[in-house]
Amino acid sequence: MSVQVLAAEMAEVELKDVPSKELTPESPLTTKADDKGIVESEPKAVVPSATTPTMEPIVKTGDPSPGFLTPNTKMPQASAMKRTDPQQNGGEAFVNRDGTVAEAPRLKKIQFADQKQEFNKRPTKIGRRSLSRSISQSSTDSYGSAASYTDSSDDETSPRDKQQKNSKGNGDFCIKNIKQADFGRREIEIAEQEMPALMALRKRAQGEKPLAGAKVVGCTHITAQTAVLMETLSALGAQCRWAACNIYSTQNEVAAALAEGGFSVFAWKGESEDDFWWCIDRCVNLEGWQPNMILDDGGDLTHWIYKKYPNMFKKIKGIVEESVTGVHRLYQLSKAGKLCVPAMNVNDSVTKQKFDNLYCCRESILDGLKRTTDVMFGGKQVVVCGYGEVGKGCCAALKAMGSIVYVTEIDPICALQACMDGFRLVKLNEVIRQVDIVITCTGNKNVVVREYLDRMKNGCIVCNMGHSNTEIDVASLRTPELTWERVRSQVDHVIWPDGKRIVLLAEGRLLNLSCSTVPTFVLSITATTQALALIELYNAPEGRYKQDVYLLPKKMDEYVASLHLPTFDAHLTELSDEQAKYLGLNKNGPFKPNYYRY
Ligand code: NAD
Repeated sequence: MSVQVLAAEMAEVELKDVPSKELTPESPLTTKADDKGIVESEPKAVVPSATTPTMEPIVKTGDPSPGFLTPNTKMPQASAMKRTDPQQNGGEAFVNRDGTVAEAPRLKKIQFADQKQEFNKRPTKIGRRSLSRSISQSSTDSYGSAASYTDSSDDETSPRDKQQKNSKGNGDFCIKNIKQADFGRREIEIAEQEMPALMALRKRAQGEKPLAGAKVVGCTHITAQTAVLMETLSALGAQCRWAACNIYSTQNEVAAALAEGGFSVFAWKGESEDDFWWCIDRCVNLEGWQPNMILDDGGDLTHWIYKKYPNMFKKIKGIVEESVTGVHRLYQLSKAGKLCVPAMNVNDSVTKQKFDNLYCCRESILDGLKRTTDVMFGGKQVVVCGYGEVGKGCCAALKAMGSIVYVTEIDPICALQACMDGFRLVKLNEVIRQVDIVITCTGNKNVVVREYLDRMKNGCIVCNMGHSNTEIDVASLRTPELTWERVRSQVDHVIWPDGKRIVLLAEGRLLNLSCSTVPTFVLSITATTQALALIELYNAPEGRYKQDVYLLPKKMDEYVASLHLPTFDAHLTELSDEQAKYLGLNKNGPFKPNYYRY
């Protein structure tokens, strides 16, 4: 079954029907038995004042507190909040099996166009396998560093045809080349430096093993950062079997290091469709071993178990899902009454959203542009379409480099923010002739259409930082009068008959994921949230979680953040008893109401 078919089956959510509202502080687990956990109306905008206590403690179990920063504190056990699908992203077109792009019949569809193109374009060394599938959507949902420095061109043999063993004689893995383990180990050690919270959890795990007995089957990008997560889970007591959620993102040397360390890893860079599902199957289909936890990125692993081994869910305590798409699928399952275990939506944790969208983009926009074009930013005129989290990050970075930044927006609130931040708010047609760089980050479609592309000046760089490749109408550039020249990997010059050319990056796909790496520190935050979600679901007493999708509580987000503070030698102020009483807060948090927007 291809991911496209899966998407067609599962991507039927009409987001307009789904209220994207936060839950009340009281989760279904901590409140009355009949509480469905969904807020029917917008939470009241209570204006916090010195005399108005604005919050109640969300969490009734566990006690995540600033005390976590001291070594002997217990792992947090927080009950989670449930909320409706908050997904705002996703494309509105998808590629059919015959390669044509179809308009989605519903409001929002999972978008597969870019992966399909990429998959078919790349030569594979594994000739016997089919290249018919479009790869996991998760490749664009999660922003794992896909960089690999491995040159595996020396070895044409499919890993499936090799018999490999690690130095201890264990052969329960399938990777490119076990001999790369030392190199991979160095990569993992580098990543550890920027993943302080996981390292802190490991230290704490010397005293307690909250995942003892957990059998985690994972399907994520297999990178150095994931390796740090896996080794942390192992230190916390879990057994892990892992496959890749993306056929290109595996760092072969890291997979080798993991296999050498005793992990059952089934992944290599450049898998075929058949390989992809085979690897997932090898993770779960094993005599004498059944997973009891799922850690997924994109939903393919969850889907495979649903289709092939539904009985496994009897033993599975929960699913932790990282990506927009995977979460989307879980909400669909839940809506259809087919979700048979509790699931944690890591994607929408405050820390993940803020860091992935704002800070990650603030760092990686320059990297992506620089690597592809060597452009100098000082004095360049840039228009950024969309002033949400991603747009704010891009604008801040470009402004800091001395660029002259214009912003387009449809939302007066974000527009006003742009003005207050010192950016000129314009309509695209007002500046399109003069700008040197156009960046889209709206999550919308057809923001840059052919009319604008026609009017751009010679040499204008055009790129997208949004989730899907619908923001720039790239298809409109595939007309006979325009010439395409591939000048570098991911860089096309599109040339008009009069000689004018624009520089199109990554064919309109997400620039930073396609052309640069993502800061490890950002991934550390996500990985820590994943680890905590696993701990929470695994240790939750029977009945705490129903068969539904939950969001980790704010207190847990605060905990994730607090674990990252020591990196900066940051000193957090503690509330005095008097202050806590005055504000109506628990001294240990949560410090903000659920509707607080940061
Ligand atoms: P957001 O909703 O906060 O911001 C998008 C903004 O675009 C909104 O303010 C909206 O009003 C505006 N907008 C919509 N249509 C517009 C139009 N036609 N013209 C001008 N403005 C318009 O979302 P976000 O968190 O900033 O994410 C934006 C996109 O980036 C999403 O697709 C998201 O999935 C993706 N994303 C990318 C990365 C990355 O690493 N590149 C990371 C996170 C999210």
